Amino acid sequence: TRVRSSAASDVYKRQGEEYFLKPMNCPHHCEIYKNFPRSYKDLPLRIAEFGTVCRYEQSGELHGLTRVRSFTQDDAHIFCRPDQVKDEFLRVMDIISIVFRSMNFQNFEAQISLRDKVNREKYIGSDDNWEKAEQAIIEACEEKGLPAKIEYGEAAFYGPKLDFMVKDAIGRRWQLGTIQVDYNLPERFELEYMGSDNQKHRPVMIHRAPFGSMERFVAVLIEHTAGKFPLWLTPEQVVILPISEKFNDYAEQVKMYLKTHEIRAIVDDRNEKIGRKIRDNEMKRIPYMLIVGEKEAENGDKKAALLLKIVENPSRFLSTIQVGVTFSGFLNSAVASSSFADMITNALASSWQFAAEHRSLISTISIVVITILLSFLTLVFGELVPKRYAMKY
Ligand code: ZN
Repeated sequence: TRVRSSAASDVYKRQGEEYFLKPMNCPHHCEIYKNFPRSYKDLPLRIAEFGTVCRYEQSGELHGLTRVRSFTQDDAHIFCRPDQVKDEFLRVMDIISIVFRSMNFQNFEAQISLRDKVNREKYIGSDDNWEKAEQAIIEACEEKGLPAKIEYGEAAFYGPKLDFMVKDAIGRRWQLGTIQVDYNLPERFELEYMGSDNQKHRPVMIHRAPFGSMERFVAVLIEHTAGKFPLWLTPEQVVILPISEKFNDYAEQVKMYLKTHEIRAIVDDRNEKIGRKIRDNEMKRIPYMLIVGEKEAENGDKKAALLLKIVENPSRFLSTIQVGVTFSGFLNSAVASSSFADMITNALASSWQFAAEHRSLISTISIVVITILLSFLTLVFGELVPKRYAMKY
């Protein structure tokens, strides 16, 4: 973590109190750790926050959202015993996987930064600890099947690390998530825990930030997707295009119908030709367009909205919505159920109800099959949510 300025002149005095701009979150978390005596049984202790930090970057280095003077890190610090480093790495890699996958970042690489093979005196911490941690990172990557490049001499003086890089739409590489072992801060803050041997030991600290900086993440997300966000994230998922003003009212009804299904939709009711509307909305990167006209309005039934002419890939649109609804229904009932049998019954009931509402035999069958499959996976793999997100590259 770079810190540019912590000069005493940066102190602000107000009503007898001193205020500083905070350049990083780590020292604060160390102080929280230190607030109580800790035992080996308390570890790992994980402290997380969305912390806003300020750094005085030179004005020439400021750049869009990627390099700013005040930004928010999704920061966490894990205090653990040396034998827990690998497990903690595995857990953090799962979180990073959830983040990248939900953003559709397919194109990413990992780099393991280790000590220089020869010059060992420039690193703080014992040889034994370094070897354990380096081995733990390499093993964690192997266990997850994550292809990672090993770079010797790229570690910080205070510990080895694992970085995640993402390529943007024009091939530039950006560093995003990072997991970093630190032997230095526990030393400087004299952090301790009581071991099972009744002796005092120094914990290992792991810094982790899957997004890195939220501002930078947003910038890379926009560049990476060239504005085509994943469907769940895009501000407007559907735009409804009436072919003439006569059908504006009907378009509004369709919008309300989609809204009740938690789909974000808008109506383009401008007095323009339909071709023009399509072109304009393509530029806005709205993933789905529904075109409505006489036939659709005549049908009257609001549920027919989903059967309207869809410009792009109608089957994918329908299945996305169906699976999404089924899946969330399934998750909800899984959470609310006390036993596995309950869960299956609830999930089946909710998916059956959804399918029945849409009166389609094929969707009914497919939804029931998906539900049974999910239930089976749950039974085999135990916990639903963590396993669903378990990382496989
Ligand atoms: Zn930190």
